[in-house]
Amino acid sequence: MTEHTIIENYQRVMADIAAEATRCQRSPDSVQLLAVTKTHAIDKIRQAYEAGARDFGENYLQEALVKIEQLADEDHPMKDVRWHFIGPVQSNKTRDIAAAFDWLHSVDRLKIARRLSEQRPDSMPALNICLQVNLSDETSKSGVALHEVGALCEAIAPLPRLHLRGLMAIPAPTDNYEAQRAVFRPLSDLFRELQARYDQFDTLSIGMSADYKAAIAEGATIIRVGSAIFGARNR
Ligand SMILES: *Cc1c(COP(=O)(O)O)cnc(C)c1O
Repeated sequence: MTEHTIIENYQRVMADIAAEATRCQRSPDSVQLLAVTKTHAIDKIRQAYEAGARDFGENYLQEALVKIEQLADEDHPMKDVRWHFIGPVQSNKTRDIAAAFDWLHSVDRLKIARRLSEQRPDSMPALNICLQVNLSDETSKSGVALHEVGALCEAIAPLPRLHLRGLMAIPAPTDNYEAQRAVFRPLSDLFRELQARYDQFDTLSIGMSADYKAAIAEGATIIRVGSAIFGARNR
């Protein structure tokens, strides 16, 4: 995909965000666009940066660490960017995640949260985290069940080096707007309930290339968009 196309795609998604937010009587800047760059090369990430992207999401730790280092190190370092880890987290990855990322969207176990809090370097601010919720009840998928989210929040909120910001989900794909909204709704209801209990709760990370408009209508504050900006992935 050419440079031209990535910039155009980025602008089109930004315009969609503004239009859908306005339609839902939300402020366009209440929805943040996270550019999901997994599998995409450094030059494409730079193009998205040129287009205005400052938040980037990666799923695979080794790939992400290489990119983060390269993009900070070159002659033209990308400044003021925030790196978000959005992939599954195994225990043996927590130390590297805690040292390299600003955000982690996919916490679904207390054990992982404790490790991250212990391993977050003192020189960095607390790690921003979201709890990943399983909305599709597929036992193979990661994420905590809706009815267990409250208890997990209570256990994680006091951890000193984590900043519990909200909830994230990756529902099974559905292809019409109303059906997509219906899938997100139990999560947005729970999110509002928890917001009343936790002052720092301000992030609902839902919506990908195929369903970000429905997500915005259901209160998304971060949408995670890959293919609509960068085209199809190779793997
Ligand atoms: C890959 C990925 C995305 C982006 O998916 P697209 O459909 O390409 O927009 C968003 N969130 C997570 C967790 C992902 O793994």
